[in-house]
Amino acid sequence: MNCLEALAAIEVDPLDLPPEVEAHVKACAGCSEARVTWLAMEDAPAAVAPAGYFDQLPGRVLRKLPSRPRAGDRPSALWALAAALLMAVGFGGFWLGRANRQPLVEATYTPPAAELPAALPETPFMEGDDEVAQLRRLPPDKAATVLEGLEPKPAKDSK
Ligand SMILES: [Zn+2]
Repeated sequence: MNCLEALAAIEVDPLDLPPEVEAHVKACAGCSEARVTWLAMEDAPAAVAPAGYFDQLPGRVLRKLPSRPRAGDRPSALWALAAALLMAVGFGGFWLGRANRQPLVEATYTPPAAELPAALPETPFMEGDDEVAQLRRLPPDKAATVLEGLEPKPAKDSK
């Protein structure tokens, strides 16, 4: 008994092998694997399922599900609770992601933008013209006049 003969016997009937083929299949890993594969590829016998089994299957599955008359109050409340929970989890993850990501983005850009007006008033992308920038654009004598109209010490300190 060699593998080819065993495989031929398996192809004929994998469930009812001659005794010598059965002995070879038990000893030979390749042939026993081929037998299992052949069995898996075979069509399921029609007699396994009783008549009408697949016709009644959807109805029986539906009958095993939670009954619909009670689906008025509590299931909907449960669904709302589940939805709220999912949303909370989702938003939690979303905010967690934002919280983890924010320092990378804003620490590099926002603090400089907040400090720049005092440090570098002539930067072109600042918000409008603040008082110091307007004062610097004036000719020196007019700037002095403006400064005289103000409290002199805060103006000079800020410069
Ligand atoms: Zn073999």
